[in-house]
Amino acid sequence: MRVTDYFAQAKGNTLISFEVLPPLKGGSMQAIFDTLDPLMEFKPPFIDVTYHREEYVYKRRPSGYYEKSSIRKRPGTVGICAAIMHRYGVDAVPHLLCGGFTKQDTENALIDLGFLDVQNVLALRGDARKFEGKFIPEPDGHHYASDLVRQINDMNNGIYLDDLTVSDEASRTNFCIGVAGYPEKHFEAPNREIDLRYLKEKIAAGGNYIVTQMFFDNQKYFDFVDAVRAAGIDAPIVPGLKPLTKLYQLHSIPRMFYIDLPDDLVKAITDAKTDAARLQVGIEWCIAQSKELKERGAPCLHYYTMGDSSTIEAIAKAVY
Ligand code: FAD
Repeated sequence: MRVTDYFAQAKGNTLISFEVLPPLKGGSMQAIFDTLDPLMEFKPPFIDVTYHREEYVYKRRPSGYYEKSSIRKRPGTVGICAAIMHRYGVDAVPHLLCGGFTKQDTENALIDLGFLDVQNVLALRGDARKFEGKFIPEPDGHHYASDLVRQINDMNNGIYLDDLTVSDEASRTNFCIGVAGYPEKHFEAPNREIDLRYLKEKIAAGGNYIVTQMFFDNQKYFDFVDAVRAAGIDAPIVPGLKPLTKLYQLHSIPRMFYIDLPDDLVKAITDAKTDAARLQVGIEWCIAQSKELKERGAPCLHYYTMGDSSTIEAIAKAVY
């Protein structure tokens, strides 16, 4: 079923969903099941699976010369989606990137997903690769997520590459398309208005709903929702949530995700004396965030599990 149909069916109740990331290459599918098994009692209608493109690495040769090669550390997104749908009977939402894909690769990937009865995708640009500094699309790949959304939407309307138009309804894809939104602005955007303009373009191109970057101050989400609505976008906006439970995350999270942390959270984590105490602070903070978002009518709370089901389970138990 389409994600937006779940929202419509929920009639204002706040759903719950989770995001998992594929295990490191060589890892087993069991890692995903170990993360999700304890979370299924909360009845998520859909589960997202992240996509990780190849990364450049430099390997030192015996001569001392460094050779550049590329590896994919976390392959398997599509297989994991199929396994999740098979094991739990819930919808899986693969993330699909511009980065690393030509338009032809994208079309092939979407045909595979359609045949697997995957009905939802989260369309993203992806980040710049390490050592590249800025995002570089494949030759004949998409520059921005809006271009990717347009291609998916075209296929929903029977328009494929190579001037092929499919008139048979059953041969058209029927993807519900999610896109990313940034309550604290995407870090490359010159300002929030410009970022919102491009978010609007993603929706105009066929995006059906928005999932936000994580945030730790709900006011940022509420302000974002107001600004998005004022920009004339009426798509559902799903808050993305992650508990901050470790000291080093006070620096790593702002650096990796370009977001601010509220003073009170920083102080509480800094003042906590043990790992267990920091974990408790992070769980309680996330519970408080979740309860308020639920009370104020968020369509769904989307938790980034990062392989840590026990923390997410503790939060979900207190909220649902
Ligand atoms: P876009 O919407 O294309 O925006 C990128 C930047 O370009 C923004 O600054 C925007 O303002 C600007 N822009 C957009 N259109 C135009 C235009 N026409 N002209 C000029 N500027 C423009 N990354 C992964 O690699 N794998 C994942 O699985 C993954 N999952 C994610 C899930 C969520 C919920 C979120 C929020 C992010 C995720 N990311 C993932 C990270 C994402 O790929 C990065 O944040 C990336 O830098 C931007 O992706 P986007 O789809 O928002 O890009």
